[in-house]
Amino acid sequence: MSNLSFVPQSETSAWQTYLAQVDRVVPYLGPLSRWADTLRRPKRCLIVDIPIELDDGTVSHFEGYRVQHNLSRGPGKGGVRYHPDVTLDEVMALSAWMTVKNAAVALPYGGAKGGVRVDPKKLSRRELEKLTRRYTSEIGLVIGPDKDIPAPDVNTNGQIMAWMMDTYSMNVGATVTGVVTGKPLTLGGSLGRVKATGRGVFVVGRETLRRLGTDLNGVRVAVQGFGNVGSAAAEMFAGNGAKIVAVQDHTGTVYAPDGLDIANLMGELRAHGGIGNFAGGERIADEAFWDVETDVLIPAALESQLTAERARRVRTKVVLEGANGPTTPEADLILGERGITVVPDVIANAGGVTVSYFEWVQDFSSFFWTEDEINLRLDKILAGAFRQIWETAEHHRIPLRTAAFVVACTRVLQAREERGLYP
Ligand code: GLU
Repeated sequence: MSNLSFVPQSETSAWQTYLAQVDRVVPYLGPLSRWADTLRRPKRCLIVDIPIELDDGTVSHFEGYRVQHNLSRGPGKGGVRYHPDVTLDEVMALSAWMTVKNAAVALPYGGAKGGVRVDPKKLSRRELEKLTRRYTSEIGLVIGPDKDIPAPDVNTNGQIMAWMMDTYSMNVGATVTGVVTGKPLTLGGSLGRVKATGRGVFVVGRETLRRLGTDLNGVRVAVQGFGNVGSAAAEMFAGNGAKIVAVQDHTGTVYAPDGLDIANLMGELRAHGGIGNFAGGERIADEAFWDVETDVLIPAALESQLTAERARRVRTKVVLEGANGPTTPEADLILGERGITVVPDVIANAGGVTVSYFEWVQDFSSFFWTEDEINLRLDKILAGAFRQIWETAEHHRIPLRTAAFVVACTRVLQAREERGLYP
């Protein structure tokens, strides 16, 4: 295991979680394990200072990052998050998970991720635009439609992608729609992109239940995080006969053993920016969320939510990772011992980047597809990738996460080996 000297290490950090996941896959890589340290070192980390003038006339500095973990299979690809807790360690882990995710689904990309340590809720729209434009200019050195393509992630959206696209285009002197994905439809965005991650979580969940011989109808689902991913996944599950028995977001936790009314819940989210005070369910303590009896538990918030302690308590058949890195390595082992199927982030939430890929392809060809075509192709790609991972897990008798890493890391390291070392 190689620790990088510039990253402060703690046992529970996202990067440590990722390194532990890599350690578990190495025994299955055969002769390619010779290249395993490629996975343990990001190719390139850029740290930028983002000074902006706030509305009150003061100047504030924010720290931003863009990490390209691996570029062996194609340009970097991965989102940008705005969050007060963003660190280099976290962005490194998120970029590495993008490498694995893109390879697991066989998208022609490496892995990258960006972030700015900021609480965007405290900025005005004007300040948010300034922050986004300056961040984009600063990372302009390393991004580009054939170098590294950002996209939305936690607290970023189509408007922020529009500002990023415009800033990059101004700097190079031509409109370059393919430099970011997740853009508004009017600027080369793709139909189906906004809900693609949640749709993908559903598709992979549906395939998992099919393999386990569990009927989707009446299945109990609990969702942590009711943002872009969690809310769309809940809608899809509810629309296909599942019962949403508990939902948690930053405003609180609501519970209804017979199922929450999803349309009303979505209305509550639109009206109040959160679901914590939803009258159509019982409000319970946040920690009690992990004790709710479910069939499918969807962590769709941030990293390291499913700790060892919670993993001993949860009562579910399946953990379906909508978030990136929600389960710690110790929790993974405990869930495995308890016979709970963990469907890892790198396949469960790969729907977003898959439709990002469709968007990028559409931008290059300036030919746009219908929403039906997009959803059909998404379904086919995810179901096919899931099948391969499931069969790999059965073949080696290993957890799905390790199997996903076997499939993905084999692709990455094969490309690494075939390209050879330069110079
Ligand atoms: N942020 C999303 C993810 O974690 C999507 C990335 C993309 O579309 O490039 O997969």
